[in-house]
Amino acid sequence: MKRIPDGKTHDAINAAVLTIVLAVFYYSFREGIGPGITYLNSYTIVAFSIAYIFATLFLSPDLDISSKPYKRWGALRILWWPYKELFKHRGLSHHPVVGPLSIVANLLVIVAAVFLIIGIDYEAIPSSLMISSIAGIVLSIEVHIISDNVVSKFKGIF
Ligand SMILES: [Zn+2]
Repeated sequence: MKRIPDGKTHDAINAAVLTIVLAVFYYSFREGIGPGITYLNSYTIVAFSIAYIFATLFLSPDLDISSKPYKRWGALRILWWPYKELFKHRGLSHHPVVGPLSIVANLLVIVAAVFLIIGIDYEAIPSSLMISSIAGIVLSIEVHIISDNVVSKFKGIF
């Protein structure tokens, strides 16, 4: 099965959605309204944005195949090799719940190992930054999954 949209289109759609989300954040922040306004500050918004962009480039559900995001890991792609082998035939990386959960879980294993090796105490990282980073990653993955669904439905009509 051909993957649609392709990697480039995914990056463009994800970038467009981030722009909209940041505009909404900015508006909520300025007006002091909207859900989650108490959590919005420059730190959480930056953490959210960096995590979102990183996830768009490196943590796509297309890690289940030899995709651009998979290749972007370079030599470190070995870290995602088990994921690719485990998920490639089942399409579960594109499941709206299993997809983000499995990708974040795999990432957390990698991050925990890195923290252990270089001696960072994860408790030293404010929970608001962790939550906003994970939110950025999950949103990026969901946008990818929705884009895949919308485009394949659209192509089915015509
Ligand atoms: Zn995909």
